[in-house]
Amino acid sequence: MASSVQPPETRVFKGISASPGIAMGKAFVLEDMDLAVGRWQVPPEAVKAEVSRFRLAVADTRKEMIGTQQKILKLLGKTHARLIEAYLLILEDPLISKDVVKNITTNRVNAEYALSEAVAGAVKTLEAATDEYFRERRHDVLDVGRKILLHLLGHQPQDLEDLNEPSVIVARNLTPSDTVHMKAQFAEGFATDIGGRTSHTAILANSLEIPAVVGLHEITRHVRPGDMVILDGTTGTVILNPPPDVVDNYRRERDIRGAERRDLERLRDQTAQTVDGRRIALAANIDSPGEIKNLLANGAEGVGLYRTEFVYLNRGGLPTEEEHYRHYAKVVQSVLPHPVIIRTLDIGGDKLVDLGFPEMNKREPNPFLGLRGIRLALRHPDLFRTQIRAILRASAHGKARMMFPMVSGLEEFRAARKLVLACMDELRKENLPFDEKIEVGLMIEVPSAALVVDYLAQEADFMSIGTNDLIQYTLAVDRVNDEVSHLYEPLHPAILRLIHQTVQAGHAAGKWVGLCGEMAGDAELTPFLLGLELDELSVSPGMVPKIKKVIRESKFADCRALVVDALKDPSRDNVQSLLRRFRNR
Ligand code: PEP
Ligand code: MG
Repeated sequence: MASSVQPPETRVFKGISASPGIAMGKAFVLEDMDLAVGRWQVPPEAVKAEVSRFRLAVADTRKEMIGTQQKILKLLGKTHARLIEAYLLILEDPLISKDVVKNITTNRVNAEYALSEAVAGAVKTLEAATDEYFRERRHDVLDVGRKILLHLLGHQPQDLEDLNEPSVIVARNLTPSDTVHMKAQFAEGFATDIGGRTSHTAILANSLEIPAVVGLHEITRHVRPGDMVILDGTTGTVILNPPPDVVDNYRRERDIRGAERRDLERLRDQTAQTVDGRRIALAANIDSPGEIKNLLANGAEGVGLYRTEFVYLNRGGLPTEEEHYRHYAKVVQSVLPHPVIIRTLDIGGDKLVDLGFPEMNKREPNPFLGLRGIRLALRHPDLFRTQIRAILRASAHGKARMMFPMVSGLEEFRAARKLVLACMDELRKENLPFDEKIEVGLMIEVPSAALVVDYLAQEADFMSIGTNDLIQYTLAVDRVNDEVSHLYEPLHPAILRLIHQTVQAGHAAGKWVGLCGEMAGDAELTPFLLGLELDELSVSPGMVPKIKKVIRESKFADCRALVVDALKDPSRDNVQSLLRRFRNR
């Protein structure tokens, strides 16, 4: 008799790729705790006890968070551990410490209900924010609310450490601490309903090399515990209950990628040099000292872009000079003999960090065209000097370079450089050592800077092209807006021309020129970037081996010829077909 059991339905979900790699396994669905709890009246004589019960739950939550913080500290270092500080701050917020208690005492409601009311109110306010950064913070408030609720209800928090077989985690959202717990366990990867590429969780997944797809909207509604899941973090795809042939294909693909990876690892100690002897510096981009181990394991020759915004993130108050100095000195020392380009703060745009300045309370109508990067730094010279002094002091420990973001013309570069010279004078007077020959450069990421690059090249020691922004500003395409992402074209002739002009102007002035936008990590474009005569490429640490392989297999003379041909007709279609032909050869 034929079986009537139907195979489970296959479904494909497309989300945002947050961390590359293939994960396969049974789904481990993290239950989503509903904060909508029942309300009941507390008798007058029990109100005090109800408040104490709430305070105890908050204290237990704090203990649990501090435990998590210690774990993160061991695994990833201080910067990532600081992410938990944001949670601890929410615990101390009047929203939790005052509003809930007030609701319990004045309305004589149970603690669970008072808590859910306070959290729902805060989430509603944050949801209405037009700024993505603030909207994202609602998840932090919800996570903290859930943690307290679990303690109030006496539930054991669901623990990823209970995983006992290779699984793909499926959840509405994951907190940074959840992500950290995954490393040593059986978590093959994770898929979440919400989140963007800039969420802390996505940043951590990348550092830990856990394949991840976020922004899948409703995946938790369709997946049941134990369902088979394939997750491709590179393409942002999740396949639920795949048929056997698809599973086989992905298994093969994963083996191939694993073998490729092992093959690439052999290149770690090799130089990034073309067959005909053109040497290029291949460095990596990092956000925190915790990523250095990974960078060295992948064979990067130093740091081509150290985004220092993380030093300012998720903390109470501004970092001191000593804190900056400790971070930078550590990075500079650990990558010796290679150099580290420390980029000064690039806060603003989509990277909103509340530094406590009054203008930060106002929402900018166009944040990407607003008070960002060097503009903010020059508006607050004391803030800027603290960082500059720390970078200078770190330069005594190795090869540090200083780079300014978002420079739009000569005046900004000169003003920043003047501050550097003033800080150098101070340090000399204080007998604090620094590298007197430290290179000071700038990012070419605003079109106006690219158009006066010949002047800038006379004054800067080096330039690094930030294509992430250069593309968005040149083509007027918001880099974080899905609706126009099809217009975001690295191979647009205007971009090619600006890169070409920048390199030429730099070389004419005897300066070196790098490229540190995401475009540098696209292996398809490597021959082209080589032919444009860039001196350095800086990519995410995981991409270093692949790019190195392409460099080592390329002939510089051919890459030059490719660029000469492309510049004759720099239309995207022509450049793409030239690249295709180049690859096939
Ligand atoms: C860039 O704009 O290309 C860049 C590397 O800087 P960020 O992505 O931090 O803006
Ligand atoms: Mg930029």
